[in-house]
Amino acid sequence: MALREVSQKRVLPLLAQFTRGLSASAMPEQVSLDANAPISQPAPFSYVPPGRNHLFVPGPVNIHERVLRAMHVPGQNHRDPWFAEFYKECLEDTKHMYGTKAATPFIFPGTGTGGWEAALCNTLSPGDKVICFRYGLFSHLWIDMMQRLGLDVTVVDRPWGEGADEGALEELLRKDTGKKIKAVCVVHNETTTGVTSDIAGCRKAMDAAGHPALLLVDGVSSIGALEFKMDDWRVDVAVTGSQKAMSLPTGLAFVAASPKALEAMKSAKLKRVYYDFADMLRTNPSGNVPYTPCLSLLYGLRESIKMWKEEGGMEAVAARHHRLAEGVRQAVDGWGLKLLCKNPRWRSDSLTVVEVPEGVDSNKIVKNAYAKYDLSLGIGLASINGKVFRIGHLGNMNELMLAGALVGAEMAMIDSGISIKPGSGVARATEYWHKTGSVIKTRESLLK
Ligand code: PLP
Repeated sequence: MALREVSQKRVLPLLAQFTRGLSASAMPEQVSLDANAPISQPAPFSYVPPGRNHLFVPGPVNIHERVLRAMHVPGQNHRDPWFAEFYKECLEDTKHMYGTKAATPFIFPGTGTGGWEAALCNTLSPGDKVICFRYGLFSHLWIDMMQRLGLDVTVVDRPWGEGADEGALEELLRKDTGKKIKAVCVVHNETTTGVTSDIAGCRKAMDAAGHPALLLVDGVSSIGALEFKMDDWRVDVAVTGSQKAMSLPTGLAFVAASPKALEAMKSAKLKRVYYDFADMLRTNPSGNVPYTPCLSLLYGLRESIKMWKEEGGMEAVAARHHRLAEGVRQAVDGWGLKLLCKNPRWRSDSLTVVEVPEGVDSNKIVKNAYAKYDLSLGIGLASINGKVFRIGHLGNMNELMLAGALVGAEMAMIDSGISIKPGSGVARATEYWHKTGSVIKTRESLLK
């Protein structure tokens, strides 16, 4: 790239930043007059339309105003005396979302991918045998990480749209008479396909085979939205990221380790530095951290978990996700379309993956939704790109928000050449939500 081009690329966004607040005539053409416009956005994105962007990808998700306000703090010193108690409370709080009393929670700066690495590096050694199901892009990427770390992975491929096969797992483990397999790795909710695997079922298969392998679970798009019972299912390491069900900005990797995982850590030889549990175990109990914590995200986390508890905890949150998801599934049926996940036992309550008719490019729907209605839907990933689109409904979400997304999806599908009667999906969803809805719990007295 020519030097001039590079410097223009760097300078123009800066210019846009500095010219905010100047009169229109003094500004370059592409700079928005809107005070809320994201800075440094090139045309055509420099214009921000009125109202809210409808964000319906399965993470990052919508952040509640309470959480946004909680994060709006000035710079603070995490070595001041208040921090230790604050941090210990943050850690303790996260236990609720995993459904654990026994596990040790960690909070790393990072994303779900960092959580994957922490789970593997702290419990396993180079050349260790592990099993992992592959049924979408995320399980594929986790397997890729395992292989790059030097683990010996038995990949169990499943059709995209199906979940972990407990029978196959039991069989593989029974055959391992020398107990050489060190870990079973399962992506709980495959965000590519809208499939939730049965972790309790996987644990049952491991028990039936009498196998001592660790159970490592990616709960990136499940933990905090769906039922997750780390202790009951005897999950050894569970992982999630802040931009998913906990409805925070991206930037925290949440990881929890069972006593058995912490025991495995003592002999695990994979190299680890930034994600070393040992550094956390050395510092966290006294409310310390081995490196600078993301303070504003921690404030957001506390507010988010507060809201989660106010709602009634895991049971209530999971029930809400189920009701929202069921409404979307009704809408898909109303449109005359099909879910990618055919077997009801695996249907995800975090997101819905919709197949589009032959000859229609689902990318067109996603583009129309964004270009015409400011609605962000999820594209089909990897091999199913163009064949499906994804509606995320996890985290900070309610019926009316979701109804907006369904209206937008209907219009974008019509724009993309699918023959759909306007309102056909929305009617089915609202009928379901209306029938199954209840009064907001603190507002019951208003209707007496
Ligand atoms: N696992 C699942 C199931 C995911 O959906 C994602 C991201 O969407 C990841 C892992 C990777 O997480 P991140 O992008 O936060 O690193």
